Amino acid sequence: MTLDEIAGQIKVCKKCPLYKSRTKAVPGEGKSQAEILLIGEGPGENENKVGRPFVGDAGKFLDELLSLAKIKREDTFITNVVKCRPLNNRDPLEEEVGVCTRNYLFSQIRAIKPKLIITLGRHSMQVFFPQIRSVSTVHGKAYKKAGQVYYISYHPAAALYQQNLKEVIKEDFEKIPEIIKLIELGVNKLT
Ligand code: URA
Ligand code: SF4
Repeated sequence: MTLDEIAGQIKVCKKCPLYKSRTKAVPGEGKSQAEILLIGEGPGENENKVGRPFVGDAGKFLDELLSLAKIKREDTFITNVVKCRPLNNRDPLEEEVGVCTRNYLFSQIRAIKPKLIITLGRHSMQVFFPQIRSVSTVHGKAYKKAGQVYYISYHPAAALYQQNLKEVIKEDFEKIPEIIKLIELGVNKLT
């Protein structure tokens, strides 16, 4: 399936209860063959209005983080674990995450074939590493699993208003060029 076909299905999807409270579904956007795929949690208020990911304050901060990583936003693909906004920004339920990722996120990954997946926040991390309880023990490190490399980050919205986390997430993004270099060199031992 192509990314456009997947996005077409997401826009009319009713596979979990989150469709009831959405204004617009947010399939994600970016380059179809992006080397870097960023995965957030779910659309917030602004994203729900416009149908695009990371357009509010967290999005502005993400842009700043990408520039620290020397990555252009337009060269990436950015999406979320769930494509419809949970009301009042509550956490997505395990069931909603399961349905949405099985139907869409995993197909998007197969279509894009990114070199690096950057998970933003706990929900995104736990889609791939359900056994890890907290981002705090593993952030800023790259992991290889079934041939795919992942880099685990805090969520920009969580870091934005906590000065200590803000510095940590910035340092983590500054390390990304080095990770990409190691992947390109085919080095198995990442950081
Ligand atoms: N937070 C997210 O996790 N995703 C968005 O798209 C915006 C804010
Ligand atoms: Fe469908 Fe995902 Fe939206 Fe649920 S969150 S309705 S599974 S697109």
